[in-house]
Amino acid sequence: MSRPAAERREDLVALYRQLSPEHRCPLAESRASVVFGAGNSDADLMFVGEAPGANEDREGRPFVGRAGKLLDTLLAEIGLDREDTFVANVLKCRPPGNRDPRPEEIEECSPWLFRQIELIEPKVICTLGNFATKLLSGSPVGITKVHGKPQPRTIAGRQVLLYPIFHPAAALRTDAVRRLLSQDFTRLPALLDEERAAVAPAPPLAPGLSRSGAGEPPASQLDLLG
Ligand code: URA
Repeated sequence: MSRPAAERREDLVALYRQLSPEHRCPLAESRASVVFGAGNSDADLMFVGEAPGANEDREGRPFVGRAGKLLDTLLAEIGLDREDTFVANVLKCRPPGNRDPRPEEIEECSPWLFRQIELIEPKVICTLGNFATKLLSGSPVGITKVHGKPQPRTIAGRQVLLYPIFHPAAALRTDAVRRLLSQDFTRLPALLDEERAAVAPAPPLAPGLSRSGAGEPPASQLDLLG
């Protein structure tokens, strides 16, 4: 059962307040900001990256550097933009020097991500690269083997379609990965349509009848730094 979007948004804002900016964690000493994530709090599509980099740490928002620009380009190519999605990371704080997240950091930080997923209720989660893919698939199989292969999963107590794709930063380094990432992106609209259709609302009621929950405010943009 889905909770009303307005309630879930309120809880997401409360989660943001809990996490920022004094949140203590093993990376608290070296980070400048806690990067909670940003986007539509009622998005059907969620992206999960690895961890903030230097630009994200400075600005407090996810994917604002070159990898983020590529993400925006890829979204535009399929007729979407950031505001149609919610973008978060496995780690909310930048590891020093952009080193890989450590297992104990992932363990410590991942409950925040799972709570975000529980509140946003996405239908499709695109994991970007190895760390997000392994965490959310619960499998050690890496991105090279599983990219572009949708996997139905139960995550945070809900059925979602996990869709692992390469990390945009890897695509910036290697042309072949860039091509694979573009190809995998082109399948996203159809996957979203299928998942939306699978939970399509009941047919319209006869004139004069109403269903409770109708008239909810539309999903609003969660500009957490605004
Ligand atoms: N890479 C990530 O994984 N996340 C960001 O927010 C930016 C770069």
